[in-house]
Amino acid sequence: MSSELAALPAPVGAGVFNVYTGAAAGTVIPTAAQLGLEPPRFCAECGRRMIVQVRPTGWWAKCSRHGHVDSTDLDTQR
Ligand SMILES: [Zn+2]
Repeated sequence: MSSELAALPAPVGAGVFNVYTGAAAGTVIPTAAQLGLEPPRFCAECGRRMIVQVRPTGWWAKCSRHGHVDSTDLDTQR
């Protein structure tokens, strides 16, 4: 199970900024399961507000600096 965090792309898994508040977090890294319920709003690596699109089956989010993340890329447990 420890490989779950390592699988997260930088914009959601870097852990530098909280992906929901944009505040400097440093500690709280959302799990893939948590991200499945609520899309990220801020890049975890640089804290920029990301472009987020929610769709019935999931979401995608894009940081202008660190790229695009799709929730389907995080579905390691389904
Ligand atoms: Zn970024």
